[in-house]
Amino acid sequence: MSRQMLRGLVLETRDHGERDAVVTIALREELVRVFARGVQRETSKNRRLCLPFEEVEIETEQSGTGMFRLIHGSLVAEYSRIGEDLRMQAVCLAVNEAILHAQMHPALYERLEQLWKSCEARDADWMGRAALVMTMLLRQEGISPQVDGCAICGSVSDICTMDVDNAGFLCVRHGKGRSRWPADRLRRMRHAVKVPAGQEAAVSLTGFTLEDIRFLVHWFSRYSHTSLAGERFLDSVARLYPENGSGTADPLKVPDTDDTDSI
Ligand SMILES: [Zn+2]
Repeated sequence: MSRQMLRGLVLETRDHGERDAVVTIALREELVRVFARGVQRETSKNRRLCLPFEEVEIETEQSGTGMFRLIHGSLVAEYSRIGEDLRMQAVCLAVNEAILHAQMHPALYERLEQLWKSCEARDADWMGRAALVMTMLLRQEGISPQVDGCAICGSVSDICTMDVDNAGFLCVRHGKGRSRWPADRLRRMRHAVKVPAGQEAAVSLTGFTLEDIRFLVHWFSRYSHTSLAGERFLDSVARLYPENGSGTADPLKVPDTDDTDSI
């Protein structure tokens, strides 16, 4: 039996039987599942370590390569305000669920932590932070949208929309019959897809909408062939928060590629 200290972000807790639970924690390098005995009991001291949107440091024991078992631990940070805002909750739950289907690594960990911090602080960039987690997931899964030009003909002019079926931007000719996106929406999606890890500060993360996040979550579930319960919850929450069109920019204006090529 080996003992190990683990520090990470709690993504999900699932009840196991009447009293126990299995907690999925994102470490910097990997996702781990930790068996937490007795934490469904009100009197459990470890109960407070098993809630999503917490950073915890826990001591575990493991026999061989079996599942980690929680011994005890402490709360490093809690992002409990996420649960106080239905949109933040829906977005963050969908993001967590998508991560459960992917590989964890330090750059993804950073973006996830920044999202939670932004939500906790009620920063205006929180949806942009969520978009950056999703676009990083898309990239590492090899399912990034084509945002360097029309996904069909490669044209870099007259881009008018972004389309899941065709896996990226479309020009006016190939986007015929599809709803056009305002240029600022195309631009921020391109930024979110292109910005490299560690250079997040180089792009503006404000202006993202719930529709943008839904679009990226849908993209993930579609191309990773994953059915996300969080996506359905997000859809139902989005109906409670109808958004106006995102800006008044001329939808025919080509997204400004000059200022994006540098990222
Ligand atoms: Zn085209």
